[in-house]
Amino acid sequence: MSNIIRGKTIVESRERRSWAEPYKIKMVERLKTTTREQRLRAIAEAGYNTFLLRSKDVYIDLLTDSGTSAMSDHQWAGIMMGDEAYSGSENFYHLEAAVQKFYGFPYMVPTHQGRGAEHLLSRIMIRQGQTVPGNMYFTTTRLHQELAGATFVDVIIDEAHDPASLHPFKGNVDLAKLQALIDREGADNIPYVCVAATVNMAGGQPISMQNMRDVHALCARHGIKIFLDATRAVENAYFIQQREEGYKNRSVASILHEFCVYSDGATMSGKKDLLVNIGGFLAMRDPNIYQQASSLVVVFEGMHTYGGLAGRDMEAMARGIEEAVDDDHIRARVGQVEYLGEKLIGWGIPIVLPVGGHAVYLDAKRFLPHLTQDQFPAQTLAAELYIQGGIRSMERGIVSAGRDPVTGAQRYPKLELVRLTIPRRVYTQAHLDVTAESVADCFDRRASITGLTMTYEPQYLRFFQARFEPIA
Ligand SMILES: *Cc1c(COP(=O)(O)O)cnc(C)c1O
Repeated sequence: MSNIIRGKTIVESRERRSWAEPYKIKMVERLKTTTREQRLRAIAEAGYNTFLLRSKDVYIDLLTDSGTSAMSDHQWAGIMMGDEAYSGSENFYHLEAAVQKFYGFPYMVPTHQGRGAEHLLSRIMIRQGQTVPGNMYFTTTRLHQELAGATFVDVIIDEAHDPASLHPFKGNVDLAKLQALIDREGADNIPYVCVAATVNMAGGQPISMQNMRDVHALCARHGIKIFLDATRAVENAYFIQQREEGYKNRSVASILHEFCVYSDGATMSGKKDLLVNIGGFLAMRDPNIYQQASSLVVVFEGMHTYGGLAGRDMEAMARGIEEAVDDDHIRARVGQVEYLGEKLIGWGIPIVLPVGGHAVYLDAKRFLPHLTQDQFPAQTLAAELYIQGGIRSMERGIVSAGRDPVTGAQRYPKLELVRLTIPRRVYTQAHLDVTAESVADCFDRRASITGLTMTYEPQYLRFFQARFEPIA
């Protein structure tokens, strides 16, 4: 696991070798600093929900890495090459070719973003009353499965729920759990297995090639399809290169291609790995599923050659795929996340281990052990971190977990996390230093931090718009 612990300034000896970002800055966006009083006012106005802050009031924005990455000059040049024909845009064919080349799926329809693809897939594949197994849920993915009439069942390995476990592939599917589910429900009632790589909700944790191979073999025996959530599959491929026997000398691009071989298709949010501000796609091998997707995409997204995207957006995504799989790029991208994680570990701050691919996750249960889960420890910590340093993070705990759609009962996830998500190619090492210092300042005064109560709860995906107040 020596490669996992690979910070830049942890060991200050002549032995240490630095890496630098494989890009230089051509254009800058100015940031505004705020006073503590301004931030106290802003977070109160936002109902103590970082999603409801105005971005102008944020100094370092680590809410998400979704659509927030910096495009390259090559991608911006592609924007000018947008072919804005209503149908048959040249940019669609560039995108299709890139998906075929790097992911290996013969068919794809563009969608406005990842959830557009999830919506189409769920509608096409799921019948009322079926079960969809997955390696931990993702918010929009599970909701689309549920809206299509399925029940989601988590079949990730137990280690994924333990923030201190050092398992190198905490995203792995537990084959025994999957087998037991197939035995119980029957293969006919499982439209597909949804495999996420990496697993966002577990802390950006990867799944191994071996596990993917095993899941494929198990599903093949029962005639069950596998659909990837390939949103962060490039990051997953990088972890396979770094951690799995036999992949050290393989390129990330070739690992990604092999990984996809074990699936029947993928939903994709281009806003993550693929370095664009908007876009996604649904890819597949089966021409019948493609036919259904082509006719359904027209209803919800747009024609099958644009799927809710402008030609320029498709061009930027096609070029983004090529940049995303570059070994230097992905090493630096994950390297920045590791740098921040190592710094916090060094200061004894509880985070999810090992450090994931796109974010550092603070373990709010250990950070604020005096708060009960009903006092929203992660939501509270996210608000505190904003007040402390103007840093915007995201709750990934009880608020995100929501309620059971049938019983309406509150779900109590084992993990209660605050996600510090690093956008690609956006912030410098100094920004990460400032972030780490702000977290440490909160940690120093953690005993004085009190919880929140929820004052408004929306029906769907409540974490986006819920409002809170400090406990009196
Ligand atoms: C972001 C994300 C999605 C949803 O994609 P959008 O583009 O936000 O609709 C699905 N799965 C994972 C793992 C994601 O990170």
